[in-house]
Amino acid sequence: MPEVEGGYQRIMLAVDLTEESNKVAERALALSRAFNAELHIVHVIEPLSLAYGGDIPMDLSSVQEQIHDQAKSHLAEFAATLNVPAEHQYLIFGRPESEIQRAAEAKGADVIVVGSHGRHGLALLLGSTANGVLHGANCDVLAVRVGVQKTDQETESSGQS
Ligand code: AMP
Repeated sequence: MPEVEGGYQRIMLAVDLTEESNKVAERALALSRAFNAELHIVHVIEPLSLAYGGDIPMDLSSVQEQIHDQAKSHLAEFAATLNVPAEHQYLIFGRPESEIQRAAEAKGADVIVVGSHGRHGLALLLGSTANGVLHGANCDVLAVRVGVQKTDQETESSGQS
């Protein structure tokens, strides 16, 4: 099938491997079919030292290794459901926002697909991964709505806990 003129050729799907990844992946798959584009998948593992500010006085390398191995097989399983070959799967250590951008650039992706919670208020100011990816990305970014997360204030005023 020929490429669609003005369409996408290479899609970088970013997945956090939570349940919501299915909906984000569905959109990326539909996009890749519509444009006959290659589908690539990236998952970023945040190093424990980054997450905890390097303040833990113990060697975390074996824990980190286990996290890596688990993420690798989880990513492979997930990618298999989308028919994405191993050479188009990327498992990277670092900060999700910047590593997703870097992977997209390195592989020449022309669109990044991420999930977005459509947060408001404080959470929006503090930023989400989708926001971080959008700012500074060199290509298009498709933010797939995966359900709105309410702010604490909204939750309180609607009487939910
Ligand atoms: P968040 O704003 O962190 O809840 O994440 C929203 C979206 O960002 C997810 O649906 C993924 O598309 C992407 N994302 C978040 N964390 C990661 C990660 N560690 N690796 C790859 N993509 C991620």
